Amino acid sequence: MRRIIIVGGGVAGLGAAYKVTRAKSEGHDVEFTLLEKDKRLGGKIQTEMVPDPSEKGRFIVDGGPDCFLTEKPACHRIAKLTGIFDDELPTDDSRKRTWILSRGRLHEMPDGVMMFAPTKFVPFATTHLFSWPGKIRMAMDLFIPRKKVSPGKINDETLESFVVRRMGRECLDRLAEPLVGGVHASDPKQMSLAATFPRLLEMEQNYGSLLKAFIAVRRKVEEMRRKYPVKPGEKPRTFFTSFVNGMQQLTDSMANAAGRERMRTGISVSTLQRTPRGGWRALLSDGSSIDGDAVVVATESWTAEPLLRPLDVAIADALAAIPTSSSATLSIAFNENEVGFNLNAFGVLCPLIEGRALMAATYSSTKWPGRAPIGRILLRGFVGGPHNQEILKRSDEELVQTVLAEFRDILGLNPFAKPLFSRVFRWHLGMPQYTVGHVKRVELIEDRSAGIPGLALAGGCYRGVGVPNCIESGERAVSKIISEWGIDLAEDHVEEKRYY
Ligand SMILES: Cc1cc2nc3c(=O)[nH]c(=O)nc-3n(C[C@H](O)[C@H](O)[C@H](O)COP(=O)(O)OP(=O)(O)OC[C@H]3O[C@@H](n4cnc5c(N)ncnc54)[C@H](O)[C@@H]3O)c2cc1C
Repeated sequence: MRRIIIVGGGVAGLGAAYKVTRAKSEGHDVEFTLLEKDKRLGGKIQTEMVPDPSEKGRFIVDGGPDCFLTEKPACHRIAKLTGIFDDELPTDDSRKRTWILSRGRLHEMPDGVMMFAPTKFVPFATTHLFSWPGKIRMAMDLFIPRKKVSPGKINDETLESFVVRRMGRECLDRLAEPLVGGVHASDPKQMSLAATFPRLLEMEQNYGSLLKAFIAVRRKVEEMRRKYPVKPGEKPRTFFTSFVNGMQQLTDSMANAAGRERMRTGISVSTLQRTPRGGWRALLSDGSSIDGDAVVVATESWTAEPLLRPLDVAIADALAAIPTSSSATLSIAFNENEVGFNLNAFGVLCPLIEGRALMAATYSSTKWPGRAPIGRILLRGFVGGPHNQEILKRSDEELVQTVLAEFRDILGLNPFAKPLFSRVFRWHLGMPQYTVGHVKRVELIEDRSAGIPGLALAGGCYRGVGVPNCIESGERAVSKIISEWGIDLAEDHVEEKRYY
C-alpha cells in the first residue's frame, strides 16, 4: 500500500483526496492521509446555517465563494460522482440585473456586455454608464490593429494596458476593473492576462478586435442554446451555479466520498523531509510525524513556501514571489419590508475610481433562491483587495458599521432598517495575485517539482483561482504522483450533457 500525504483540506486538497479514493476503488493499492490546520475542512469554502430569529427557517450564508462558473465542468463532474448534482442551484435569472456605481450614481449594466465588451448596439448607445467620448473610444476597438507578438515569446500584458490599448481608459475604470479585476480582487495595473484570461489575448490575435470576437461568441452561445434548448424538467443554464445548501455542500460531499476517517483537522504540517529510503516525512504541530510515499502540498503559496524551502530553493523563491491580498465578506440580514430599495438585482459593483470602501455587494437572497426565509433578505458586502488592505485593521463591529453605511449611501438602504444579524468572514492573504510573470513562475514550479519524485503542488495559487480549477489542480497532483508509480488512472465516467 502506497500512501500520499495531503497537506491542506481546502477544495484542492479534497479534490486530491477524492481522486486517491477513486484510484483505490479502481483496484490500485493507494491511500491518503490528509492534514488540515483548521478545525474544519473546506478552506475558503465555508457555509454557515444561521437560524432565523423567529425560528421560521434559516439563512444560508456563504463566507467565501458563493458560486462557480457553470461552463467549467469540474464541479458538475464531482457533483455527479458524489450524488449532489440534483442540488445544483442556478441563479434566479428572472431578477438578473447588475448595477454599477458611476460618478456616485447607480447605472444598470447594459444588456449584452460580455466580460467588458458591449455586444448589443442599442443598450450600449443608450447607457449613461459611459460618456460619449468613452463610447466612441470603445468602438475604436474595431479599427485598432492587433498587437504584434514575437514568435516564441509569451503574449502577456496587464489588464490595464490591454483594455486601455484596445478600448480606452473609461472602459477600464467603469467596467473592466470592477468586472474582471474585481473577480480576482486584483490590481489591473499588475494583473497578468496570460495567467487569468488568456482567451482575451487569443481573441485579439484571432479576430483583430474584441468587439468582433465577443459578438461572435454571443452568436455562438445563442446558436447552441437554440440547438440544445433546456428540456422540460431540466434546470435553466445560468452563468453561475451554486448548491442548495451553499458551496460547502460541495466540499462536504467530497470529504464524505473521499473518507473523513483519513482526514485529520486542527493539526498543521510544520516541516516536510525526505526519508533515507526516498519517501516523505511530515513533521506535525503536535510534535508527532507521519511517513508516506508521496506528498501533495495543497495550501496557499505563502504557507507552501516554508515547507518547500528546505527541499528546493528555486520553487520556494517562486512561491514567495506570488503576492496575495486579504479581503473580507460581510453578510447582513434584514426584514424585507424595512430595506426600502429595489431588490430585483444580483448586486452592485463599485469601481475603484469611485473611491468607496465597498468593492461589491451581492443581493444573496435575490440571486440564489432559498438563501433567506420568506420576508427576510440577505445582503453580502465585499471589502479589502490590494487597494484597501488598511480597512481590514478595523474590528468586526467597525467593518459592519462601515458596510452598513455603504449600503445606505450606495444601495439606498433605509437608515432605520435594523440588521437581524451580521457575519464577518476574513480571508487573510486569501487571494493570490496573478501578476505579470505568474505564468513563468508556475512553469518553473511545475518543471522543478516534475523532477522531484513524489512531490506535487495544488491549489488556487497556480493555474486558476476558481473552485473548478482548484479541484482539477488537486486531481492533476495525484495523477502526477501515481503516474510516477506506473499507474494510469481511468477517466471519470459521468454523463456530460451541458452546452453553454
Ligand atoms: C472572499 C472570496 C470569494 C471567492 N469567491 C469565489 C467564487 O465565487 N467562485 C470561485 O470559483 N472562487 C472564488 N474564490 C476563490 C476560491 O474560493 C479559492 O481559490 C479556493 O477555494 C482555494 O482553494 P484551495 O484548496 O486552493 O485553498 P484553501 O481553501 O485556502 O485551502 C488551503 C488549506 O490549507 C490549509 N493549510 C495551510 N497551511 C497548512 C499546513 N502547514 N498544514 C496543514 N494545513 C494547512 C489551510 O488551513 C486551508 O484550509 C473566492 C475566494 C475568496 C477569498
